[in-house]
Amino acid sequence: MTSNTPPDSDPYTAFREELRQFAEQHCPPELKAIVRSNQKVTRNEYRIWQEKLFARGWGAPNWPVEHGGTGWDLQQRYLFEEITAQADCPPQYHHGLGHIGPVIMHFGTEAQKARFLPRILDGSEWWCQGYSEPGAGSDLASLKTSAVRDGDDYVVNGQKVWTSHAQEADMMYTLVRTSSEGRKQAGISLLLIPMSTPGIEVRPIPTIDHWHHVNEVFLHEVRVPCANLVGTEGEGWKCAKFLLDRERLSPSTVPRLARLADQVAELLRARRGSNEASPSQHVLLERLYLAQAGVMGAREMLLSAIQEEMQGTLAASKSSALKLFCSELSQQLIGIAFDIAGPQYAARLVATVTDDAGDTELQRELVHTYLFYRSRTIAGGTSEVQKNVIARDLFGA
Ligand SMILES: Cc1cc2nc3c(=O)[nH]c(=O)nc-3n(C[C@H](O)[C@H](O)[C@H](O)COP(=O)(O)OP(=O)(O)OC[C@H]3O[C@@H](n4cnc5c(N)ncnc54)[C@H](O)[C@@H]3O)c2cc1C
Repeated sequence: MTSNTPPDSDPYTAFREELRQFAEQHCPPELKAIVRSNQKVTRNEYRIWQEKLFARGWGAPNWPVEHGGTGWDLQQRYLFEEITAQADCPPQYHHGLGHIGPVIMHFGTEAQKARFLPRILDGSEWWCQGYSEPGAGSDLASLKTSAVRDGDDYVVNGQKVWTSHAQEADMMYTLVRTSSEGRKQAGISLLLIPMSTPGIEVRPIPTIDHWHHVNEVFLHEVRVPCANLVGTEGEGWKCAKFLLDRERLSPSTVPRLARLADQVAELLRARRGSNEASPSQHVLLERLYLAQAGVMGAREMLLSAIQEEMQGTLAASKSSALKLFCSELSQQLIGIAFDIAGPQYAARLVATVTDDAGDTELQRELVHTYLFYRSRTIAGGTSEVQKNVIARDLFGA
């Protein structure tokens, strides 16, 4: 640089370039093709990407350095999500890194940290969430799965439902009832249960999109070492809420929505140039602009939420507002894509989605994604429940 060259005003230019090059060189093209076409990302794809990130020292952008995290600042954390999403790299698997990992760091014993955190970081151990039960979804504190002390073990009996990824998980972080005395929240504890323990049965739940996400998990006389209790017995509700606030604040969501908005814009451009153009292009364009403005707003909200999380001041209402807004926005965006594509796609929704014969790749992507996104306003707590959390936080209702 000569003395006349203005200094680079963006201190993150080199970092951006490093991320771009990494995504370009280390994420296999077949993985990118799966992500680009919105196909289901399975354990194998998540694992491949996590191993690459781990080898580069980027296994846990959201963890502190002492546990193998990157120590990145707010801007770097967002840039990582944004640039990897733009490059069609898979997101990182959230149940370990985003959910139970921080809970173990905060509430776990040293032995639990040493046993579980390294395997989350390198992607070798895979977690699922055993919270919901029949009769205990929105009203989670009504859960009934019981854990009774017997020597150095708890003996667990009950049923979980809607357990995502249980069919491919090694471990389940599980809310159990250790006491029926007092307030229903008071008798709940958090146990870490190996899925290979005798007495666990996983049954798939068929869903409208024909992807295998969710399961019923039956627990019959399942023995779990007391050493796998997180925090104090009866104080699992504290861990559960700590975890839910982080579940609702998923840093990868907004950049992935931005990528979807780009794809929808591309689709609209392609249709405008073809004979299949819908007569109501201007209406679709207006809806797309509004959704794009929503993505920009969500980005600002996410940045402020991550900052609060880093400072330990994150309010439950902020992560709930973000979850509410982003899940509804994702449904709007895929709805616009559908309307751009035209009425023949809507007809595919009522046909079975396994009957793919004759469909173009675009048809398959749109139909699966549209159907899967219906669950976005339910999983992780319904939109109504998010509104209740926001109201409680803001108005003390
Ligand atoms: C794809 C998918 C993946 C999931 N993955 C997991 C997982 O991995 N682990 C896990 O533990 N759970 C998981 N869930 C479960 C999810 O958290 C629950 O489905 C959700 O919390 C709603 O609970 P519910 O299904 O029992 O519905 P209910 O609680 O019975 O709700 C039914 C309806 O009543 C409304 N409602 C209920 N209470 C109120 C209220 N107080 N005020 C206003 N409206 C109310 C709800 O908004 C909803 O519309 C998943 C769900 C889906 C769809």
